[in-house]
Amino acid sequence: MTAINDVDNFNKGLVSHQLIIPTDVNGCYGRGAVFEDILHRFDALVTHIASADGAEKMTFPPILPRSLIEKLGYMDNFPQLAGSVHSFAGNERQAHELSERLRQGQRWEDLLEPTEVMLTPAACYPVYPLFSGLLPAGGRLVTLHSWVYRHEPSIEATRLQSFRIREYVRVGAPDVVIEWRDMWLARGLKLLQGLGLPAQSDVASDPFFGRIGKMMAADQTEQRLKFEILTPVISTEKPTAVCSFNWHQDHFSSKFGIRQSEQALAHTACLGFGLERVTLALIKTHGFEPKQWPDAVREQLWQ
Ligand code: ZN
Repeated sequence: MTAINDVDNFNKGLVSHQLIIPTDVNGCYGRGAVFEDILHRFDALVTHIASADGAEKMTFPPILPRSLIEKLGYMDNFPQLAGSVHSFAGNERQAHELSERLRQGQRWEDLLEPTEVMLTPAACYPVYPLFSGLLPAGGRLVTLHSWVYRHEPSIEATRLQSFRIREYVRVGAPDVVIEWRDMWLARGLKLLQGLGLPAQSDVASDPFFGRIGKMMAADQTEQRLKFEILTPVISTEKPTAVCSFNWHQDHFSSKFGIRQSEQALAHTACLGFGLERVTLALIKTHGFEPKQWPDAVREQLWQ
């Protein structure tokens, strides 16, 4: 178990060094300038080591069509983590009622209606529909940055409701996709260890909902579909995942008709660096003052 004191001391240090800016909601803090500098420097390092790969760069807003969330099956597997955007679409009388209820301290949210969008729960989701049809020879490689949302409020600085992922998505023939995933697993580990983090990789599973979800998670582990790179941040016994690698086989390809040839569906895989988590791991390992970090680390980030 993680000691509450460890969590608390780390949070206090982050706040007193103006690395994070607390709000009234757990998992929803602001980031100070130094925190952002570390985060962007790390992201630039990822770009640098992967530059020869020639990934197509895409940027999406932190919202997704509701219909896409439905098609991807997210509500079947992770309803507990979902974030839905609602807005007011009523008449004048209902608007008045909403204001009145607010003034009287009553609940008012039932006067809102769901919009056509939900919050993006995974950086790679918007790209799969774009791959529909026959892929070019050799497949495709895309990189994305996205703010993602997960409803899991926590006092742990590493467990955020909204955070940034630097993601790469590979689509193509199964052996190409697997080879790419394995190459990145070694490359990601080398990158993080090279920054002085005691990082290790391990097989992992997603937090699928409920009893059936437990079986799905066990299946995912058994088939070695998900790997994570972990490093201690607030606990050595339960290190934090800072990068995750997912091999979806033809899960997305079958939904969107993504083909590697006239006869065969493609496979997809993705990897994502949790940028806030890497930043926090660096701070935890090297201290609250980046100016005092080891030269070998500073040289790589502030080159
Ligand atoms: Zn992904």
